Amino acid sequence: MEEIGFFERYGLTRVINVSGTMTALGASLVVPEAIRAGAEMQSHFVRIDELQAKASGVIARMTGAEAGFVAACSAAGMSQSIAGCMTGTNLNRIERLPDTDGLCNEVIVQAGHLINYGAPVGQSIRLTGARVVPLGTAALVNFYNLEDSINEQTVAALYVVSHHVVQEGQIPLEDFISVCKERRVPVVVDMASEYDLRGPVELGADVVIYSSHKFLGGPTGGIVAGRRELVRAAYLQNKGICRSMKVGKEGIAGTIAALDAWEKRDHASAYDREQAHVNYWLNVLRDVEGVRLDIHQDWTGNPIARLKVSVDPEKCGLFAWELADRLSGGEPSIQVRDDLIEHGYFFLDPCNLLPGEEVVVGQRIVDELTLARARGDGRRYSLSARRRRSLASLLRWPDLP
Ligand SMILES: *Cc1c(COP(=O)(O)O)cnc(C)c1O
Repeated sequence: MEEIGFFERYGLTRVINVSGTMTALGASLVVPEAIRAGAEMQSHFVRIDELQAKASGVIARMTGAEAGFVAACSAAGMSQSIAGCMTGTNLNRIERLPDTDGLCNEVIVQAGHLINYGAPVGQSIRLTGARVVPLGTAALVNFYNLEDSINEQTVAALYVVSHHVVQEGQIPLEDFISVCKERRVPVVVDMASEYDLRGPVELGADVVIYSSHKFLGGPTGGIVAGRRELVRAAYLQNKGICRSMKVGKEGIAGTIAALDAWEKRDHASAYDREQAHVNYWLNVLRDVEGVRLDIHQDWTGNPIARLKVSVDPEKCGLFAWELADRLSGGEPSIQVRDDLIEHGYFFLDPCNLLPGEEVVVGQRIVDELTLARARGDGRRYSLSARRRRSLASLLRWPDLP
């Protein structure tokens, strides 16, 4: 008898992900090597410290850092690293957190880096008992903001590289590191969703953090790489506040395997495959009235070109967010990248598609636009109404919309 799959058994909605690596959708397609490694590990025991020491070797090789370990996720890795900066390897201090009496506990961050990646960056710092000291203003941070904020209480500096951060008026990583180095403040860099595994270490960052479950195609996890002493101090937080951010043996093994696979992957053909999807959509949507198409290179220089789809509400008869909602509401549910949709456009991200899904996406966009024009049932709700509805729906969980 054929076994019924999990999706059918529980009646889960099928999702086509053209939004990128989103936690709320299950992050990314896990590479077969990582699935196998995680599965093998599940039916064995292993000395976790030994497994993490192996992870350290692989992370060091891939990032150029002295050492590393696997955390529950990047957010956890940030808390662990900041906590490590405060306690060092003093186990009594580690058990005492988030009580920071008698410890230096100020963490400096440029104001434009205090973003929300699903939760606020600042909270991953404050969880440890540390205080967030914002530098400058959202879109302008001057060198004096940085230099003058460093004092004897400063224990670390956090730097976020992401399309989420304000891109203008920030201090470049290189200069940020050099000022902090001069003043002996360790720099922790959040690179959760960046492809560049070696750059920040080369620039002299003390700790660098990546998500396993994003571009690497690993299981849910975080990669912490950096100076040996600091990485050790961060790792030891597993005996303290980071017990509640535990990564399991399958996550550690899967992350190691994903890193190995990343090293061997043919990145040029992976890029070509993704670009073929973008070109396909360009062709299918080229002659649709009221839709404007542009190829958009990734904001922070990752090798991803997405298709930007701008929707003219007059000509299409509906707002961009209404189109996104109609795509999302169907079966399968198509999730476009809509974080900038207030500007009247969304993106199609080609990174997480299974073969053939690009055809479904192209057809559904054409169909929804044709339907909206025929029915004249668009331009019914504002973006604010949409945001309020989505919040209300969140507050009703586990009741589903
Ligand atoms: C995704 C992301 C995070 C959170 O990563 P997790 O591994 O899901 O905790 C943090 N910072 C940035 C910039 C991100 O893109």
